[in-house]
Amino acid sequence: MTATDRTPAGDFERTPGGAILMDGNRLRDEVVADLNERITALGNPHVCLATVLVGDDKPSQIYVRSKRRKADEAGMMSRHVGLPADITQEYLEEAVLELVNDPHVHGILVQLPLPEGLDAERVLAMIPPEKDVDGLTERSMGRLVRGGEGHVPCTPLGVMRLMDRYGVETSGKRAVVIGRSTLVGLPQVLLLGRKGCDATPTLAHSRSGDLAAICREADIIVAAVGMAGLVTADFVKPGAAVLDVGISRTAEGIQGDVDFDAVQEIAGAITPMPGGTGPMTIGCLLENTFHAARMQGALPQES
Ligand code: NAP
Repeated sequence: MTATDRTPAGDFERTPGGAILMDGNRLRDEVVADLNERITALGNPHVCLATVLVGDDKPSQIYVRSKRRKADEAGMMSRHVGLPADITQEYLEEAVLELVNDPHVHGILVQLPLPEGLDAERVLAMIPPEKDVDGLTERSMGRLVRGGEGHVPCTPLGVMRLMDRYGVETSGKRAVVIGRSTLVGLPQVLLLGRKGCDATPTLAHSRSGDLAAICREADIIVAAVGMAGLVTADFVKPGAAVLDVGISRTAEGIQGDVDFDAVQEIAGAITPMPGGTGPMTIGCLLENTFHAARMQGALPQES
């Protein structure tokens, strides 16, 4: 089954316009249940995710709470370090170093962005690749580029998992990723283009020119900008898969980069916002934490 085939297939839920709804909540719950099963089967070894949150940004607090809740559901421990917004760089680095040196901590997540005045790059650089479950450090990115063992950034990995789960074919397909951040767009292009996935990705950004024309060439569109409703129906080739990463907080609530109502009439598969890529970011964080524990020799062999 491919997303470009709009004839009904499988038991996938569809939008009123007939597109497959790539349900991130559902897939995240499957991932969490699978991890819980595996951890239980291994005799409940200690697997621990540490979260570091600086300041009192409300959305960041919600993200961290939800990551810790899902870690618990997966059968993992979580340790939280909450620090005030006016903390010094030195104190923050000390707190992270403690987690780096603690053998009972397998994954470290520093919630970004950090408050003004703190240098996130310096903090990230302290996290060793095996504990870098967000996959955002220079060394993890280097490993992704060079095909080494390491953790892949959770949001673009979640996008790949959604496509896989909902039967979106990638091999030989043309993809457009809108947005070129190191957090999402850049690693997304690497993942789409790497061997085994074998799509042909284009990286679009604010200087790309006629974005609609570029996107209309694509079988797969990943929008990671943060501009509500940027991707309209005339960006989308009939049957294309459209994955919405962007988050804009508007008076009407959270909105994605994709004009969902119009695009679902044309797309072959589409993510909702919220409920699409966001939950899968958490699912992939927990999978990365499980693999982190394995890389650090904390898990017995799975039978
Ligand atoms: P970012 O660092 O601000 O990058 C945004 C990218 O969008 C930049 O590359 C920028 O291009 C590009 N852009 C801006 N305006 C554009 C336009 N009019 N046309 C085409 N491209 C344009 O943001 P980010 O960290 O990648 O995050 C992107 C969005 O995803 C945000 O809304 C963020 O909240 C959301 N997000 C969601 C999840 C999730 O789990 N769903 C996770 C992480 C982030 P230039 O490089 O040319 O400036």
